[in-house]
Amino acid sequence: MCNGCTSSFNYYIRGVGFLLMEILSPLARLRASFLTLGRSLLSSRRLISRSMASESVTRFDFLVIGGGSGGLAGARRAAELGATAAVIESHKLGGTCVNVGCVPKKVMWNTSTHAEYLHDHEDYGFEGAKAHFSWQLIKRKRDAYVSRLNQIYLSNLEKAKIESIHGYARFTDDPEPTVEVNGKKYTATHILISTGGHPSTVSEDDVPGAGLGITSDGFFELESCPKRSVIVGAGYIAVEMAGILSTLGSKTSIIIRQGGVLRNFDALISSNCTKELQNHGIDLRKNTQVKSVQKTDKGLTVTLVTKDPDVKDAEDKLDTIHEVDCLLWAIGREPSTAGLNLSQIGVKLDEKGHIMVDEFQNTTRPGVYAVGDVCGRALLTPVAIAAGRKLAHRLFEGKADSKVDYNNIPTVVFSHPPIGTVGLTEDEAIKSWGKDNVKAYTTSFTPMYYAITTRKSQCIMKLVCAGKEEKVVGLHMQGFGCDEMLQGFAVAVNMGATKADFDRTIAIHPTSSEELVTLR
Ligand SMILES: Cc1cc2nc3c(=O)[nH]c(=O)nc-3n(C[C@H](O)[C@H](O)[C@H](O)COP(=O)(O)OP(=O)(O)OC[C@H]3O[C@@H](n4cnc5c(N)ncnc54)[C@H](O)[C@@H]3O)c2cc1C
Repeated sequence: MCNGCTSSFNYYIRGVGFLLMEILSPLARLRASFLTLGRSLLSSRRLISRSMASESVTRFDFLVIGGGSGGLAGARRAAELGATAAVIESHKLGGTCVNVGCVPKKVMWNTSTHAEYLHDHEDYGFEGAKAHFSWQLIKRKRDAYVSRLNQIYLSNLEKAKIESIHGYARFTDDPEPTVEVNGKKYTATHILISTGGHPSTVSEDDVPGAGLGITSDGFFELESCPKRSVIVGAGYIAVEMAGILSTLGSKTSIIIRQGGVLRNFDALISSNCTKELQNHGIDLRKNTQVKSVQKTDKGLTVTLVTKDPDVKDAEDKLDTIHEVDCLLWAIGREPSTAGLNLSQIGVKLDEKGHIMVDEFQNTTRPGVYAVGDVCGRALLTPVAIAAGRKLAHRLFEGKADSKVDYNNIPTVVFSHPPIGTVGLTEDEAIKSWGKDNVKAYTTSFTPMYYAITTRKSQCIMKLVCAGKEEKVVGLHMQGFGCDEMLQGFAVAVNMGATKADFDRTIAIHPTSSEELVTLR
């Protein structure tokens, strides 16, 4: 465009702008008056609630207790749908996942995969690649990242006009469900409990000296890499922590009560993961429990007791591990419900303290809901997030059938190598479909990455198929890259893909994932 044209065009635009302003400013004023009216209606709503109760009670459409994965997701979606919302958090925004779970764990797993790759550098031609590892450096960077996320979560709440209340919430004995935080009372048409859980601990009565150990929360406070670690537990957190510590150079033992880790996974995964831990040089003590722990000048002395279940009347065998500088209890998690005063409002708990909910996340008290770990089902961040969002759509968008489908939830264990799994285990499939209607396809191979390395690791895969049409009802794998491989296959399983659908898909070569579409 020529200069003259540009200036006359600019004048034209400015002219149109003034004209629009003339038309729009009364509209804008009208909108502002509506907003003011809205705000005064809101405050009068609060005033009404104040005058109704003897004490002051602040009222919202949606009140969320617990600013973790489920609570934040539910509150933000509710606010998007026009609800006035508040989140009460006693600790740090983001909850377990951000502060002491998925996020810092994945940073440490990434760190430990670097330690693994370092072993392969020479095999790939990088001669003399020696590196000094600084736990302090990665901890500093990890903590800074977590703090940034805490800040982002706070500003997301502010942007969404969600009130953020810092403090511990407890239900009062008011007739309408009401919570008290730092002496102030809050209520809402809908109250969501998303208080998550915390690591289980062992009492000193059961194991003298148990308190000298830490839990997964304490793992993230370690200022240096322990020289000698003992991890107690056989679940995914125990497996992940043992893998990280061992790979980063800590001499690690894992103490399991039975014969293998991950016993609620498919049997192939459980046995392979148990073997992989040992292949990685982890000292795995089966059928063993901690008897006592003592503190000495040189660290902890952990006394173990082992009983062989296959030998009738077998005697207890005692053993000790000395100079332990990290004893980590990873023996499960408990719901954070004890301090909420839930019996007061008629919210029922199961025998383990989880909140009992129906498929729509309704508790036994109308108007009070629960999502996430506190319900004790599929303890995973994306599950808590999905449940929070689905609930918001049901309550504030009128989507009456909005609920989470708890079938086929994919999950990854960040072990070494990682595990990916979705759907039924082979045993579960046999239970629901009958032995004759279930066929499992398995494979085991060395991924090409290891073709030229001294360090070797296998990849194992299993497809569990059911019925005449061989619907894929379960997919389980452990090996290099399985963590990133799973999500797409989970879509296929969720859509009801059959073995023939898998076979019809052209393989991607050379990858490990191609094995899943060429199984015979
Ligand atoms: C070591 C570890 C690793 C994990 N790794 C993964 C992973 O890789 N992938 C994955 O999907 N999941 C992982 N998880 C699980 C995941 O972190 C949880 O499933 C998820 O955080 C659950 O979200 P939630 O909203 O139910 O509870 P949380 O995130 O636990 O949030 C609950 C919040 O409520 C607050 N709170 C509790 N009581 C009160 C109260 N009375 N008043 C106010 N606030 C209260 C707590 O402070 C907390 O912030 C991991 C967990 C751990 C421990």
